[in-house]
Amino acid sequence: MLSVKNLSYSIGDAKILKEISLEVREGEFVGLIGPNGCGKSTLLKNIYRTYRPGRESVYIDGRDITELTARQLARRAAAVAQENVMEFDVEVLDMVMYGRYAHRKFLERETREDQELCRHLLLEVGLDGYEQRSFLSLSGGEKQRVLLARALAQECQLIILDEPTNHLDIRYQYLLMQILKKQEVTVFSSIHDLNIAAMYCDRIILMKKGEIAACGTPEEVLTEKNIREIFGVRAQITCNEITGRVQIYYLPLPV
Ligand code: ADP
Ligand code: MG
Repeated sequence: MLSVKNLSYSIGDAKILKEISLEVREGEFVGLIGPNGCGKSTLLKNIYRTYRPGRESVYIDGRDITELTARQLARRAAAVAQENVMEFDVEVLDMVMYGRYAHRKFLERETREDQELCRHLLLEVGLDGYEQRSFLSLSGGEKQRVLLARALAQECQLIILDEPTNHLDIRYQYLLMQILKKQEVTVFSSIHDLNIAAMYCDRIILMKKGEIAACGTPEEVLTEKNIREIFGVRAQITCNEITGRVQIYYLPLPV
């Protein structure tokens, strides 16, 4: 579904990504983790083309993304970016409707089905009744949920997200992941919270200083050794009895 091949990316003289290669297969839920500044956002921006990757380095559905028009890309992949700089305000329902753009012909009006889908998605993210609210007046967490609804409105096979749970309180962190999990889509998301990554990911890719340090199941990647060596934190790893998933307990640093 998504294939990255030897992707390097520099900003000025700094080599931010060094020959990254990875695959995300159809239907997988893959998490991208790593310390602050290791290059997660830079990698994701190359995939959803906020940055321009070189030719023959990022493929979605077998197509080199540098050869796709904006509309062709928007039909294949939806993104929820970390920062959204908005210069003008729109109503919440219209914001979600932007997700339908790639499905309409030039100057075609939105249909009743578009409207119904977008209202339904707002309900799913817990924001029914917010249709006419101004987007800029929302809290960080509410904005994030609107942006998830917009990405789902694109009805793509692939959704790419950059730390989507960051502004959310704990219930909505889990709700957002749950909503994503039940879609029949492929998910590639950077995730800040390692326990959330452990809970929802089929596979986890661990980055360190612009390179991939480890890749595998949560059990394979979230080891005490990796957490100590890459995040610089002591941890105890167990298997949660209720969920059967990896659970990380962080320990105080040695003094
Ligand atoms: P992450 O998302 O993993 O925290 P980023 O991809 O945002 O990391 O950043 C990776 C590195 O690239 C960091 O060291 C950051 O300072 C640097 N970086 C990102 N954007 C720029 C920029 N526009 N100019 C210079 N350095 C940048
Ligand atoms: Mg980032």
